[in-house]
Amino acid sequence: MIAVLKPGVSGEQSAKLIEWFEEQGVKVHVSNGEFQTVLGLIGDTSRIDAELVESLDIIESVKRISEPYKKANRKFHPEDTIVEAGGVKFGGGNFAIIAGPCSVETPEQITYVAQRVKESGAAMLRGGAFKPRTSPYDFQGLHEKGIELLLEAKRQTGLPIVTEIMNAEHLPLFEEVDLIQVGARNMQNFELLKALGKTNKPILLKRGLANTLKEFLMSAEYIMAGGNENVILCERGIRSFDPATRNVLDLASVPLLHEMTHLPIVVDPSHATGIARLVEPMSLAAVAGGADGLIIEVHNDPQHAWSDGAQSLTPDQFDVVSKKVRKIQAALA
Ligand code: PEP
Ligand code: MN
Repeated sequence: MIAVLKPGVSGEQSAKLIEWFEEQGVKVHVSNGEFQTVLGLIGDTSRIDAELVESLDIIESVKRISEPYKKANRKFHPEDTIVEAGGVKFGGGNFAIIAGPCSVETPEQITYVAQRVKESGAAMLRGGAFKPRTSPYDFQGLHEKGIELLLEAKRQTGLPIVTEIMNAEHLPLFEEVDLIQVGARNMQNFELLKALGKTNKPILLKRGLANTLKEFLMSAEYIMAGGNENVILCERGIRSFDPATRNVLDLASVPLLHEMTHLPIVVDPSHATGIARLVEPMSLAAVAGGADGLIIEVHNDPQHAWSDGAQSLTPDQFDVVSKKVRKIQAALA
């Protein structure tokens, strides 16, 4: 249930109302917007008399929320949430590009790519240290060493870093990571989501290979329910019957998610298509469709990449994409 307060209600009046709601056994989520305050009631609201609430003179309107996601729901929080990671903002009109290799390989590779993508306008550096590979015989990532190399690249370039976590027990290794990625395969690893909910780290939550938008938002809800509301969603394509592309980029999800949730939405055209030459057109389409950011795989030598070379751009190709993205943004502004 949400209760929208009339403009001009004092802090004391709203505190009294919140206390009264809490006495009835629900938790109250307060969204202080520029124009109005929205109180989101979480828990068993069946005992709350909506008509009685509506009759109070400080209340503008009362609505029951039927969707199972509450904290992630736009109705709970009408204004866009801005998530900040390492000083970079996503959402509410803020747009940023994350770029870097699929996997961290060597000190030279990650630092070189970091420098190049920074020069081309990337705001954050990505690189996998723990890699979720389909085959146990494929490169699994450099683990702790990979995070150290990312931190070294961060020291040298100033770019904040994004890397994937696969196991909550590894959290101590992520202390200096600016944005923790939950990969598609772990979108419904509920224990991992709960552990991340207890941290105050920004989380980049990728959509599962075969998950609905509702399931996607329920996973965000798991993190938010623990108290961590710094969640950025990432559309990275979903499985279809057609092997022509690695996945199918569900771009309609971007404007649809913007209606359903206040959280920022980033698009990953690299994993969505699996084909480097499709990354540029899909990046531009994502920006035109309202994405709050992009995450793009860039490698110094895609042909010899230890993972995902076929979808990786060279730094020169990334430079072109980054410039064209700015043009689309300027055209839309
Ligand atoms: C990745 O970002 O390298 C990755 C493994 O992505 P996804 O979880 O979307 O497949
Ligand atoms: Mn990859």
